[in-house]
Amino acid sequence: MALYKYVQHLDQSQHANFDKEYSPGVAAPDPGIYRCTGCGDEIGIAKGHNLPPQNHHQHSPFSASLIRWKLVVCAVSIK
Ligand SMILES: [Zn+2]
Repeated sequence: MALYKYVQHLDQSQHANFDKEYSPGVAAPDPGIYRCTGCGDEIGIAKGHNLPPQNHHQHSPFSASLIRWKLVVCAVSIK
C-alpha cells in the first residue's frame, strides 16, 4: 500500500488510466507508482520508462496470479 504524509500534495482523479491494467514490459503511459494486482508489489516508474519485464518481477511458482500493473499515483509534471 502506497504511503503519504501530507494530503495537500495529492488530488483525487477519475482518469481512466487508473482503471487499466498493463502487462509486464510495456511502456508506462504515466509516470508514478504502479501496483501489481497479483501480489501487491509496488514500483516507481519515471516518465517514458517501461514497466518491469516478466523476468524482472516474478511471482512464486505456486502462485497462479498474473503480473498486471495498475496505476496507483500519477506524478504530475508542471513543465
Ligand atoms: Zn506481482
